[in-house]
Amino acid sequence: MSVTFWCPEAPREYKRVPCDAPSMGLTCEPGDRCGYCDDGWMEEKVTECPEVDLANANARQIVALLQMGDPNEEYGDLKVEDIPSVLRRIMVVLAKDGEREHLVRETFDGRAHEPRMMKDPETGMDRISCGPRVIDMGNTDAQTVRRVTNIRNLLTWAHEQGLDVSWG
Ligand SMILES: [Zn+2]
Repeated sequence: MSVTFWCPEAPREYKRVPCDAPSMGLTCEPGDRCGYCDDGWMEEKVTECPEVDLANANARQIVALLQMGDPNEEYGDLKVEDIPSVLRRIMVVLAKDGEREHLVRETFDGRAHEPRMMKDPETGMDRISCGPRVIDMGNTDAQTVRRVTNIRNLLTWAHEQGLDVSWG
């Protein structure tokens, strides 16, 4: 699941472009279509708005970091008149590492807990369990900076156009 930050009022249009299935190795020819297009044509969204897509967890972190709204909500919006205060907050966040360092997480690939003895529920025998494998891709400061920079581009554009920003 992901969250898109965008301007609902931004002009956008859909233009018909040739199906891109062949570029992904799928067959799409007259009489043998890929099944995802309209007889060899598909619609492509065209907008000048620099929309930003973030994974849910990253979106919540960014909303909290930039104080854009309630990070516990899956969606929210920012009125155009409130954009300058968030842009000022972004300047601070980008200038001070200390504002972002709490978001840095090491990559983790390991077990849920230390080895411990437990009874095997099926055989009743003792066995050693380390719990399920846990993988966390982590988060680098560079990734945080890139997300914040993308949001700044969107907010700057929205403010110039006089448009509100929404996410969800
Ligand atoms: Zn196709």
